[in-house]
Amino acid sequence: MQAYLDDTSFMIKKILKKYFGYDKFRPMQEEVIKSILNGKDGMVIMPTGGGKSLCYQIPAIAMNGIGVVISPLIALMKDQVEALQSNGINANYLNSTQTTQEQNEIIQELESNKIKLLYVSPEKLASREFNYLLSRLNINLFAIDEAHCISVWGHDFRPEYTKMRYIKKQYPNTPVIALTATADPLTQKDIMEQLNIEGAKMYQSSFNRSNLSLTVAPGQERFKSILNYIRQRPNQSGIIYCLSRNSTEKLAEKLRKIGINAGYYHAGLSTEERAARQDDFISDRVPIICATIAFGMGIDKSNVRWVIHYNLPKNIESYYQEIGRAGRDGLNSDTLLFYSYADVLVHKKFIEESSMKEILTAKLNRIQEYCQAKICRRKILLSYFGENLEEDCGNCDVCKNPPNVFDGTTIVQKALSAIIRLEQKVPARTVIDVLRGSNRYEILKNNYHKIKTYGVGKDISYNDWQQYITQMLHYGFISIAYDNGNALKITEKAMEVLKSSKEVDLISLHELTQSTAQNKAKDKLVLGGKEELFEQLRKLRSKIAYRRNTKPYMIFSDNSLKQMAEEEPTTQFEMLMISGVGEYKYEEFGEEFINCIIEFKQKAIKANQNTANSFKLSYEYYQQGFSLEQICKMRNMDQITIVSHLASMLEKGKQVDIYDFVDPLELSRIDNALKMNEGKADAKKIYIYMNEDIEFYKIRICISYLKTMQMQYC
Ligand code: ADP
Ligand code: ZN
Repeated sequence: MQAYLDDTSFMIKKILKKYFGYDKFRPMQEEVIKSILNGKDGMVIMPTGGGKSLCYQIPAIAMNGIGVVISPLIALMKDQVEALQSNGINANYLNSTQTTQEQNEIIQELESNKIKLLYVSPEKLASREFNYLLSRLNINLFAIDEAHCISVWGHDFRPEYTKMRYIKKQYPNTPVIALTATADPLTQKDIMEQLNIEGAKMYQSSFNRSNLSLTVAPGQERFKSILNYIRQRPNQSGIIYCLSRNSTEKLAEKLRKIGINAGYYHAGLSTEERAARQDDFISDRVPIICATIAFGMGIDKSNVRWVIHYNLPKNIESYYQEIGRAGRDGLNSDTLLFYSYADVLVHKKFIEESSMKEILTAKLNRIQEYCQAKICRRKILLSYFGENLEEDCGNCDVCKNPPNVFDGTTIVQKALSAIIRLEQKVPARTVIDVLRGSNRYEILKNNYHKIKTYGVGKDISYNDWQQYITQMLHYGFISIAYDNGNALKITEKAMEVLKSSKEVDLISLHELTQSTAQNKAKDKLVLGGKEELFEQLRKLRSKIAYRRNTKPYMIFSDNSLKQMAEEEPTTQFEMLMISGVGEYKYEEFGEEFINCIIEFKQKAIKANQNTANSFKLSYEYYQQGFSLEQICKMRNMDQITIVSHLASMLEKGKQVDIYDFVDPLELSRIDNALKMNEGKADAKKIYIYMNEDIEFYKIRICISYLKTMQMQYC
């Protein structure tokens, strides 16, 4: 046994369990909390969903006084405060949306030391009255959330944030803790300088979000793929990011037309409309949202189960931040990015107009490389953030389905030759039409049907050609003249292929799209036939959220419901063992969930009884001497169902005369077949093994009969 008990460890674990219902700290959390409790400043860098909030919430709860949190977005503040309150922690915020009276009430509570965590905007912090208020209070820490906003190097600079450099001067003995998901060292250094906390200890957790699957699929037939994707994930909430406002609207409409409950969101909507749509999404009323990247900042919804990028994001940082909105509860979640060269062109056009052309192009190149990867995608992502992943992740499309490479030299040569014969003047579409021997007016008008390569690529579909041409672009064999009608041009590198027949590998991207859909069926959220209970619990959660005018994930996370469905807790003790069920939440709605589980179990027992009764009834008819055919009619059931009822009764020790169903020869043939299959009593296998020679129902009952006989002799 350990000689000393670490009191601090014990105390903070107790808080973690009591208020948040969690059993274990995530990486880095415990270290950060302890260091704050020791009065040290800190800089915490964790990916979105890594669990930054607990790092300052727990010390604020553990210490006397009030923790002040500076947060840039009102929506985010509200969410955090609501989440804390729903765990029984007295938290509140002060910002411009409140009336003077509301603010005064909160100030009173602050002065009587009732509030544990106070959220404020940077503007508020800078105001004179607020400073006066602060000086009267007992502040135990300052936490600066989204700290990258303080730096011009960060991607989201906010001038109001720069006013915070005075905190440390005014409160030299109060720990200041900066938190961000921005990884780049320049921004980190700047944050510490600006906050006057140069001596702060850095805590950087891995950027790996292993619960997010990564998939990149070709951009063709996006809509069909999305449909497939959504249908594989019924009742799950997801975000589809689009590049333009228009496409968010169109896509949502298309989805709604076929009965999928999807909304849209972009910066062109009025503030009220945006708030309403966001709320619909957060409350699971509209589980799917098609949005521009304007959506997501400040959304804490923990049960976003998937994120699709309808278009290519402009760089890896944005991509990682956007997919980071999935699976914040730590459960498996999926991400899918559609990659098309058309999107690259759109980005290039934007970049052309920018003053930071070089850096933006370099970043675009990196995300293209990511999309074209033939090695584990997570390795590429993490290396971008300066991390090394030793082993392949096993949870990206490349790991799950290594790309199929084939010798594409002839295909590439055909395309290159067509481009040359078309005098490098036409775009990809025309090149493909010529290769495929199209009779389009434009082709005939220009006499393109007379060139030598006309129709040499008939055997390859238009979509496939598009993919191959994209790959040729990536290889650097061709380039696109954006300033010249997007005409395809040949590069020097291509000459090697044309002249010396240098071998070129092409990837069959087709298989990837298919596997995307297939992979998923197995990664269901709730396994082992517990989906139904999970659905019941979800419904109850929505009901309670509606009643309390809050969001479902404020009640319990998907993860908690999943555990409840799997473990079926029916006592207080068992319920408190579920991750995410703290004491306060148990008091509030623990019993409702327990009742739901009990009800579900009772129903299941009844259903079982009904089945048992149904079996008995079939058997009774059989005992009364009715033939199989007659019983089928009387019960309006098919032969195999009735026979399986009887087989099951037989296995339970009831008398069934096997010769009512088969003759002795059939029985011995089935017996033999069973022996040949090493006794593997799978009726379907035996049926196939016997070339479907003997009717299936006969095999079914003989197997039961032989099983009981065998048991008697053993
Ligand atoms: P971040 O601010 O880093 O994006 P959050 O603090 O919002 O992340 O945490 C993300 C999710 O993880 C929340 O739902 C939170 O309750 C949960 N979480 C945090 N710490 C733990 C833990 N130790 N065990 C289980 N879940 C946790
Ligand atoms: Zn991988």
